[in-house]
Amino acid sequence: MLSEAKSRFAGKEIIFASKNEGKVKEVRHILNGINAKILSLNDIGFKDEIPETAYTFEGNAKIKADAVYNRFKLPTIADDSGIVAVQLGNEPGVFSARFAGENATDEANNKKLLEKLNDFPEPHRAKFVCAAVYYFGADFFTAIGEVEGVIIKQPRGANGFGYDPLFLPNGYDKTTAELPPEIKNKISHRFKAFDQLKKYLMEL
Ligand code: IMP
Repeated sequence: MLSEAKSRFAGKEIIFASKNEGKVKEVRHILNGINAKILSLNDIGFKDEIPETAYTFEGNAKIKADAVYNRFKLPTIADDSGIVAVQLGNEPGVFSARFAGENATDEANNKKLLEKLNDFPEPHRAKFVCAAVYYFGADFFTAIGEVEGVIIKQPRGANGFGYDPLFLPNGYDKTTAELPPEIKNKISHRFKAFDQLKKYLMEL
């Protein structure tokens, strides 16, 4: 029997609560096959900034999904992600984008991360984490994806964004900024979270 949740979105529209069109493209690609059109916040003209006030990735993803669902009453997916460094007690975590201050550049964030890690011996174990949630007014479904690795002392590579030039995933000798995007996107925290979400949506 089709559950109520599936009948609500099958063949219809799901909002992905992001304005970042690069991310939207990646997520559309992963969710290809779920029988729903993925609308970004730009597609639906949602311009507000949603304050990410939680202390977990899952908490922030839920805040975003709830805010957008309450405006549009459409099934909504949201995510939050970042890097956690074990020796820093899992900093920068939810503060990854603003580690060196509001609107900090990737370079400033990377510099601050390296400065803090300088007090500790290598290897600097770390992981990228992504929480992806689906919400349609009842329970949240949450999927967590992680990719483990180490942070290196010198940035390498020009692909990707954020902390990619510093992150060497376990089992690879290239940073996620040196790996081709097709490879990074297959091993990434975001891929792992959204792939679980896709399986959930397909089985509803
Ligand atoms: P958001 O989930 O898109 O808001 O990402 C938060 C921040 O985490 C980004 O600004 C980056 O600093 C960092 N981050 C998240 N995913 C990645 C990634 O795949 N590579 C590098 N940095 C990332």
